[in-house]
Amino acid sequence: MKAKQIVMNILDDAPKPHFVLVPYMAQGHTIPMIDMAHLLAKHGAFVSFITTPENATRIEPTIDRARALNLPIQFVPLKLPCAAVGLPDGCESADKVLDKEQLKRLVDAYGMLHEPLKSYLHAQSNPPSCIISDLCQPWTGDVARELGIPRLMFNGFCAFSSLCRYITHQGKVFANVADGNKLIILPGFPHHIEVSKARSPGNFSYPGFEQFGKKILEEERRADGVVTNSFYELEPLYHEAYQKKIGKKVWSVGPMFLCYNDMSAVTARGDKPSVDEKHCLQWLDSMKPASVLYVSFGSMACTLLSQIEEIAVALEASKSPFLWVIKSDDLASDIDRFMAEGFEERIRGRGLIIQGWAPQAMILSHPSVGGFMTHCGWNSTIEGISSGIPMITWPHCAEQFLNEKLILDTLKIGVSVGAQSVAKRMMEVHEISIVKRDQIEKAVLRLMGEEMDAEERRMRARELKQKAAQAINGGSSYNNVQDLLEYVMTRKI
Ligand code: UDP
Repeated sequence: MKAKQIVMNILDDAPKPHFVLVPYMAQGHTIPMIDMAHLLAKHGAFVSFITTPENATRIEPTIDRARALNLPIQFVPLKLPCAAVGLPDGCESADKVLDKEQLKRLVDAYGMLHEPLKSYLHAQSNPPSCIISDLCQPWTGDVARELGIPRLMFNGFCAFSSLCRYITHQGKVFANVADGNKLIILPGFPHHIEVSKARSPGNFSYPGFEQFGKKILEEERRADGVVTNSFYELEPLYHEAYQKKIGKKVWSVGPMFLCYNDMSAVTARGDKPSVDEKHCLQWLDSMKPASVLYVSFGSMACTLLSQIEEIAVALEASKSPFLWVIKSDDLASDIDRFMAEGFEERIRGRGLIIQGWAPQAMILSHPSVGGFMTHCGWNSTIEGISSGIPMITWPHCAEQFLNEKLILDTLKIGVSVGAQSVAKRMMEVHEISIVKRDQIEKAVLRLMGEEMDAEERRMRARELKQKAAQAINGGSSYNNVQDLLEYVMTRKI
């Protein structure tokens, strides 16, 4: 029987192919894997989504919705042995840890889920067909081998940044580079590209994480394939080159969040919004089409108060309507004093500030939003692309400087704010230099303005939005999910 036929038969009758998803516990890693669970379920799979009690509470609306709709997704909270590694109770995700020591303990605690995960899987009447786990959950490779099923790696990067990362880490390109700012030509990249160590994704190379970093690279080599939240038409050259370089299949199945039928499901997958969604929508409805600049730097990046002040002055001076998200971490600084000095009053009517968590995907999809000032995290980037919005790029750390290159040089849908500083979380701020108000204002005017280049950026962004929707609705990403199911079922049989 041909593989395609087998899959069709299996999809028609039980049992369904059983995917086990193991995310890394941070918003930017968990959210796309929640999307992946829904996408696979929509294509006829059964999904076990591995989480922990505290993280399950955080995603309760998603769990409740999946239950109410009787979706074939089982959320499995495995108890994280916090006490055994000396972590405070409930410290179960990367955005809750206070320092590197706690992060190390968190990583160790996750590694200790090996046996509980195996016990859960052994007890299932529908045995697992495959594990798809985050790059940062390398211990799952051993579980998959013990169960005799494939382990596919999800790293949450686009193909462009995945390829850069693969070449630098597996090829040890930065091994003897002492100066983090030195530009290095990447060997084996499809075209000339120069990157610096400081502005490339690291591999947990700090003291105490050596074994973890090594295990990540080893399990990346041993993985049976890779799943990405990108789509082929966005970056065909890098998709092909990445697949060739790693010598295994890359399933690009994004933008995964477009698989939902309703926006409330999209909003439910993150933290609880700190704004009344209706109020937010009413405010957006009152703005002119494509006039609002949305400003947000994701879930992990910290912004210093002095930087917040520069952004505020620039936004005020630009005269552009804006919706600005200031995270609760940032609020630890003296933001209230700043607001009390009359800023909110002066921007009333054309500026909305959300302090805490914003319903980002909902905001980006609103027709009044015409620009996105972003830290270039991949989820934010793909959400911006799917909404047809040009971007002001302001990378902070990790692979964000690489994503910026893709946005500016390949896709040509962005304007750089000119950020050079590498600013990581846990106040591990390196060579911080504040981006000045004039620089920010200039970028806002360029992006939101009516010059020819701004119009061309908008046009290219709109084209990409269409391509993204096509990819997931019957196009390349749709076919890749089908192919993934076929691969898994054929392997199992
Ligand atoms: N996000 C959100 N509201 C916020 C901040 C972030 O919904 O106030 C979501 C955003 O839509 C994206 C994810 O959190 O899906 C952030 O992931 P990304 O890769 O952009 O950045 P990270 O937070 O990992 O740096």
